[in-house]
Amino acid sequence: MATTSQIMSENSQLEMLGHYINGQHVQDSVRSGEVYNPATGEVIKQVAFADAEQVDAAIIAAEQGFKDWRSSSPVSRARVMFRFKELLEKNADEIIHLTVHEHGKVLEDARGEFNRGLEIIEYACGAPELLKGEHSMNVGGDINSWSEFHPLGVVAGITPFNFPVMVPMWMYPMAIICGNTFILKPSEKDPGPSLFIADLFKQAGLPDGVFNIVNGDSETVELLLSDNRIAAVSFVGSSNIAELIYETGTRSGKRVQALGGAKNHAVVMPDADIDNVVKSLTGAAYGSCGERCMAISVAVCVGDETADKVVAGLTDEIKQFKIGNGMQAGMDLGPLISSGHKNKILEYIESGIEDGARLVVDGRNISIAGHEKGYFLGGCLFDNVTPQMKICREEIFGPVLCIVRTSSLDEAMQVIEQNPYGNGTCIFTRDGGAANYFSENINIGMVGVNVPLPVPVAYHSFGGWKRSLFGDLSIYGPDAIRFYTRRKTISQRWPTGASERAQFSFPSNK
Ligand code: NAD
Repeated sequence: MATTSQIMSENSQLEMLGHYINGQHVQDSVRSGEVYNPATGEVIKQVAFADAEQVDAAIIAAEQGFKDWRSSSPVSRARVMFRFKELLEKNADEIIHLTVHEHGKVLEDARGEFNRGLEIIEYACGAPELLKGEHSMNVGGDINSWSEFHPLGVVAGITPFNFPVMVPMWMYPMAIICGNTFILKPSEKDPGPSLFIADLFKQAGLPDGVFNIVNGDSETVELLLSDNRIAAVSFVGSSNIAELIYETGTRSGKRVQALGGAKNHAVVMPDADIDNVVKSLTGAAYGSCGERCMAISVAVCVGDETADKVVAGLTDEIKQFKIGNGMQAGMDLGPLISSGHKNKILEYIESGIEDGARLVVDGRNISIAGHEKGYFLGGCLFDNVTPQMKICREEIFGPVLCIVRTSSLDEAMQVIEQNPYGNGTCIFTRDGGAANYFSENINIGMVGVNVPLPVPVAYHSFGGWKRSLFGDLSIYGPDAIRFYTRRKTISQRWPTGASERAQFSFPSNK
């Protein structure tokens, strides 16, 4: 079997990343794209884009794999997951390096993403417990009743560029322990880690056809979405595409969960510990260059005095950022994913200035020695932002933090409510009453109290509200068991003695 690193493009010396179908790396695609190292701006690999032929092959492999996998015991699935976890840990450095090379994020951030993904696999190791079903004795008339979780069949996952390891792990471990087979379509911008991980899954004993990868772009996604052999789709990406995936997928009878973009606000109350606020906001707004769906991109400060202190503290922090190649130890910020994305962020910054916001820290003119063609952007801080401004309404997905000034908690909550997204939010305060009022009343899916990135752990589920999630169930955690299975409820009675008279009334407990 050829490994990804052995497969070279016919046209160049660049490595060609193919697909992973039925336990084999294949690369017979006509179309392809380029993978960049964002720190240098160089094309480092090519990636094959799947057309109908490769998508069909992946679906056939997954259908074949499903025949046996669906009836494997949960404990045998869990054993594969245990071995997979061990192999991932042994190969952690390689996976983290691949992530930094293709995505650009700094080493420690890539390690954090890897570790959070691993926690989902640890949760999935509990397959026998998670799939036990529910049982009730004597629901009435000597009838016992139980619910079983049946797998759906072939399911697909489509993932974004910003967490090339963790977000796919939000999906496939849980889908697979439920007895489904899986087709992953990773982001075309950083597909390398997924292909490397596929080999580890095989080494862990996963049968061929249970986990497949098709690389590609929107055309590949459309092929997956329109195919009736695929029972369900998990999507994570920007909101407009998430909405499209949800509408198209559900129209063709699929179960769909589509997680979208975000604009996450932090409310800073006058009584908050400002040193803690500044440190927390720095990490939550600028970590991973703001390319996180849970990044804080607006700080809503209650009172001018609060805002002045936060702006002063953040200005000092931003000046100390170590920005450079993510491979270099000790960096705080690496590059953005692409030149196109950097230009989009620069346009947002221009629009903020035109709309009258005050650009307190301007990170636009940085140059990293030896990396002049890398997609670097320094931390930017806007003050006096209003909710009507484009920089406050829309997701920027870059190292840009907006400060909005309000005079009360209710006014701050109004700013949040006006925004179409509903992924995460947090409040910084020492007042338990204010924290409770905020947590209970804000229409947002994930809320932190003095916790800037309230990303639920593996045994809770992750999902936003409003335009941040299309579908009914959140991702990973207990919701994943519901999403990746369908329920069968069996009612059973063993009559003894003489037969009773026919009953014409609807059966009920009288
Ligand atoms: P994206 O929407 O551009 O791409 C996501 C996936 O969809 C990729 O695999 C891509 O190939 C595919 N795709 C792109 N255009 C498509 C189209 N027209 N039709 C079908 N498929 C298409 O997102 P991105 O730029 O890779 O990632 C950043 C976005 O993802 C941000 O908006 C971020 O907030 C969001 N995100 C959300 C979460 C969450 O949990 N809610 C987590 C991570 C990222």
